[in-house]
Amino acid sequence: MNYGVVQEQDWNALTDEAFRAVVRTEFETHHPQQLRFPPRRLRWSENKSWYLRMAAKGWIAPSWPREFGGMGLSPSKMLIFLEEQERCGIARFQDHGILMVGPVLMRFGTEAQRRRYLPPILACEEIWCQGYSEPNAGSDLAGLRTEARLDGEEFVINGQKTWTTLAHDATHMFVLARTDKNAKKQQGISFLLLDIKVPGVSVRPIRDIAGHEEFCEVFLDNARTPASNLVGELNHGWTVAKSLLGFERIHIGSPKLPEYGLQVLQSVARQQGMLNDPVFRERLARLQLDVAHLGDIYGHFAAIVGRGEPLGPEVSLLKIWATETFQRIAELIIETAGDCGGHSGDVRLGELGIDILAPFYKARPSTIYGGSNEIQRNILARQVLNLPA
Ligand SMILES: Cc1cc2nc3c(=O)[nH]c(=O)nc-3n(C[C@H](O)[C@H](O)[C@H](O)COP(=O)(O)OP(=O)(O)OC[C@H]3O[C@@H](n4cnc5c(N)ncnc54)[C@H](O)[C@@H]3O)c2cc1C
Repeated sequence: MNYGVVQEQDWNALTDEAFRAVVRTEFETHHPQQLRFPPRRLRWSENKSWYLRMAAKGWIAPSWPREFGGMGLSPSKMLIFLEEQERCGIARFQDHGILMVGPVLMRFGTEAQRRRYLPPILACEEIWCQGYSEPNAGSDLAGLRTEARLDGEEFVINGQKTWTTLAHDATHMFVLARTDKNAKKQQGISFLLLDIKVPGVSVRPIRDIAGHEEFCEVFLDNARTPASNLVGELNHGWTVAKSLLGFERIHIGSPKLPEYGLQVLQSVARQQGMLNDPVFRERLARLQLDVAHLGDIYGHFAAIVGRGEPLGPEVSLLKIWATETFQRIAELIIETAGDCGGHSGDVRLGELGIDILAPFYKARPSTIYGGSNEIQRNILARQVLNLPA
């Protein structure tokens, strides 16, 4: 079945070295210098041209199987791809379609849904955002109150979502909504796809502490979506939602952000003349080992996904390890920058201008989104270690 760009190339047939060379050349030659290592999440208007290029090359979905138009990379090749992206400072785009909607439709969607939605995701023509959290339903997501009512051939949705990353750049949102108010919390929820340009959807950006508008509130006031946009069974959206959180955790658990942090740390240390300081070197080595271990664990979980097997609750470990390692790195960057550690924006260190606080601002929320680390610890305690509640 062809869902978009046909992937002729079997990247996994290349040696790791050959694959790395191809990817590095592509990124170093073509990725615009001015977009490298941005201090904040870029808007779609800023990195669109790069990702349209990736889409045209067939590189937009490195982890999707080839039959769905992805590169079909094995876990080890995927790691190389991420490492090279990080080396070059290539920022993530609004990739919920690639990371979440695609895998969900491959697993739970109908053939008609895959045909309708996968090609525009691959072409970056439709950009998705995640409508899960609500003002009183974050960690306790099953407590969500947004409702969807069937009216003929359409669902009518009412409610409010919040912390919706880059909703102002999205064309579509996947929504968790309550479709049976009488069922037990988790059982009356459905997973719906929604075009957010329809009447009844309003998006309001939220300004964060760094002055950026990365996430939004989304108000749903009698917003309509065709009944055919229900993914999985009616009232069984929780199963779909949970599997998607697994994909999200594996993504957040990739070594990408800590590797970026290590690069900034080493640049700051070099400019501060710290690279030969034995105490600093010991701390750096510990962090480098933590990131290397993270790469191994990530490879383990990525292999499970690659085999098409479901991720178990242990994947929570990955999210904790990645985000807390990143936070330790971000804190050491500030310490290493000395007097400049608290300055916002680019700081002149030697011949370089470095945004010291950018990794810190990226690292702080990472232990919250995708399910807070306290909740991940609860999952590990109860479901993996069988400790009493
Ligand atoms: C940068 C960023 C981007 C985001 N993007 C999106 C998005 O695109 N779409 C979306 O739907 N959501 C998004 N979110 C929301 C995110 O999923 C929620 O913030 C998260 O689930 C926590 O929910 P909350 O903010 O309501 O905090 P709460 O659930 O109110 O938690 C507050 C604190 O209490 C702790 N806590 C809560 N319950 C327990 C418990 N049972 N045991 C121990 N500790 C507990 C939590 O760990 C946390 O420290 C984003 C968040 C951030 C920070």
